[in-house]
This record gives sequence, C-alpha cells and structure tokens, in this order.
Amino acid sequence: MSNTQDVKIRFENVGREFGTDKGNFTALQNLNLDVYDGEFITVVGPSGCGKSTAMNIVAGLLDVTSGQCLVDGEPVNGPGPDRGVIFQQYALFPWLTVRENVEFGLKLKDIDKAERRRIADHYIGLVGLSDFADALPKMLSGGMKQRCAIARAYAVNPKVLLMDEPFGALDALTRVRMQDQLLDTWSKERRTVMFITHDVDEAVYLANRVIVMAARPGRLQEVINVDLPYPRNDELRLSPEFAEIRNKVWHAVYSQPSHS
Ligand code: ADP
Ligand code: MG
Repeated sequence: MSNTQDVKIRFENVGREFGTDKGNFTALQNLNLDVYDGEFITVVGPSGCGKSTAMNIVAGLLDVTSGQCLVDGEPVNGPGPDRGVIFQQYALFPWLTVRENVEFGLKLKDIDKAERRRIADHYIGLVGLSDFADALPKMLSGGMKQRCAIARAYAVNPKVLLMDEPFGALDALTRVRMQDQLLDTWSKERRTVMFITHDVDEAVYLANRVIVMAARPGRLQEVINVDLPYPRNDELRLSPEFAEIRNKVWHAVYSQPSHS
C-alpha cells in the first residue's frame, strides 16, 4: 500500500467533460497527480489545457465527471475554509479598508474582534502593507491590491492555497517582487500551494515541481523537478542551473503539437 500520509492533494484519474452543442468536450482527461504537504507546485501549459479546470476541482468550485480529487484523503465536496483561492482579478471589497478586507473571512469564522485584529495585522505585516492598513483599495496599486488579497487568503489559515495566474495582470518588475514576497511568506508559514501561470520563468522560480500540461484533451504532459535551493534570489534567476531547468520546461510546453 502506498503511504498517503503526507499527500495533501490527490488527483485520481480525474476527468472533466463539458457538454457543448457539438457533443462532449474533454477539458481534463485522466489526471493523476499527488501534491505533497507543504509543497509549492506550479502548473503551466497552453491556453485551454485544463489548468483552471483542475484548480477549480480542488477548490470545490467544479465537479469531476470521472475519477476523484482528494484533499487530506477526503473527496472534495464543495468549497471550504481549508482551501484559499486567489484569482487574477483581486476581488477586494472596495468599501472596506485593507484591514477590514483581511478581517472579513475571520468574521465568518466567528473569531472575536481583538483576535481578528491581531491576525489581520500579522498578515498585513507579512505582505508589507502595514502602512496601508486603514487605506481603501482604490488608494492601492495593482500589486498592493493583490498582496491584500493574499493576506486575506492567508488570514483564514487555509492549509492549501490555490492561485490562478495571480500576477498575470502586473507589470514585470512588480511581478518579480510579488514572487519574492510570496516565497518569503510561504517559507515562513508553510502551506501547500498550487500556482497556475503562463510564465515559464515564474513557474521555475517558485516551484518545487513544475506540472506541464497539454491541450485537446487537457492532460498531464510532464512533471519537472526544480532541484534548486530556497531562498531563491535574483542571482539564481540568472544562473546556468536555472536556465537549464527553464529550457526543459520551455521545451515541454512549446514543443507540443498545438504550438508547431
Ligand atoms: P486553462 O485554464 O488551461 O486555459 P481551462 O481549464 O479554463 O483551461 O479550460 C479547459 C478547456 O475547457 C477549454 O477549452 C475551455 O474552453 C473548456 N471549458 C472550460 N470551462 C467550460 C465550460 N463551463 N463549458 C464548456 N467548456 C469549458
Ligand atoms: Mg485558466
């Protein structure tokens, strides 16, 4: 028997079809993948290869049509506070301050006021927004809004963080800073992270393992280990070891038939 103790997320022959005018469309076919507790995986692949479908299944926002998805050995059955989701469009409440936004999920968990404040301020500090705790979202840059969304997701203490192209809308420099900040937060308070991105450099820089998917039908193409030490930094980004892995991932993504 396999040891499932430290498997956090398990995809077991997961398939997802959508009914369309032209019949059934296979968005995800026979996905088998274990994500380990505390692991940071990134998912890359051409548009339409089922990345968001796979993540939404873990999030409990979408059902499987075959196989099953397990979190902590239990089949996923709807969304839950154990899984925090962050999308590309930071969904902050515009009428609430940064602190109130971060406290929001804690209110739902019935945590008392003083404790809410303590937890919120901890995560606001962790993402570097302490000076903006009382600001409204409209006062913040795109990167700051996304950091607030990350603090809000972290505050409810999810064991699993699911991020669907969270930095996709940011400029290159902000994006690089956000990557470092995310890794910093992850190394301080280890969670299991599943992070979808279009950016091969980003995928390699963040991950323990890069999951490369292929399209039509959406499926697993290759799993590439990123055997580079943390903490990671700019020097590493420019190193030959990094380039070697990046080239491997690049090849796995762009040598797919749909790109030739
Ligand atoms: P990715 O995130 O990798 O770009 P998605 O998981 O969003 O891909 O989508 C995978 C495929 O499934 C795409 O071809 C998409 O058009 C299709 N798809 C996704 N959601 C639906 C839906 N609700 N109905 C029909 N087709 C869908
Ligand atoms: Mg997507």
